[in-house]
Amino acid sequence: MMVRRCLWSNGYRYRLHSKDLPGKPDIVLLKYKAVIFVHGCFWHRHGCKATATPLTNQEFWLKKFADTITRDKRNIQDLLDCGWRVAIVWECVLRGKKELPDIIATELVDWLHSELKLLSIPSSP
Ligand SMILES: [Zn+2]
Repeated sequence: MMVRRCLWSNGYRYRLHSKDLPGKPDIVLLKYKAVIFVHGCFWHRHGCKATATPLTNQEFWLKKFADTITRDKRNIQDLLDCGWRVAIVWECVLRGKKELPDIIATELVDWLHSELKLLSIPSSP
């Protein structure tokens, strides 16, 4: 929501949850041939503090996580193969914030105008 509001107020027009694209990206910016995912750190296994594995039912969780990681990788590769550029914003950089931090907004906008195929914010967990 924060990411959308920020892009919109800066004049970027987008579509939401495009069901016809791999992984159903949260935001699609057709003009820039770019998609943005906002990934929950727990489900998508960011590797940050929010990525702890539950102590019970570990077998279940590990299988579920492995499936998610495999699916995410395939979706991103499929998007790149189709000429899309992909940005992933991890939820931990947004936690507790009401508005998208300027530094992240700048990073996203710079990326939209760049040739870079893949962006991850933060770049490491
Ligand atoms: Zn994280």
